[in-house]
Amino acid sequence: MTLKCVSCNTVLVSEENFVKIKCPVCGTEIVRCESCRRNSVPYKCPKCGFEGP
Ligand SMILES: [Zn+2]
Ligand SMILES: [Zn+2]
Repeated sequence: MTLKCVSCNTVLVSEENFVKIKCPVCGTEIVRCESCRRNSVPYKCPKCGFEGP
């Protein structure tokens, strides 16, 4: 299974450099890399289009 950061589209190979969150609207799992999380890069839910900080 390939995980990609939804913000920068980086393919995540390590299990330690990303976070998983759930879309507050539809509950879809959203994956962000550590650097996007740290830099507060906005994300967008691939399913419902919700955008959040
Ligand atoms: Zn990223
Ligand atoms: Zn969603």
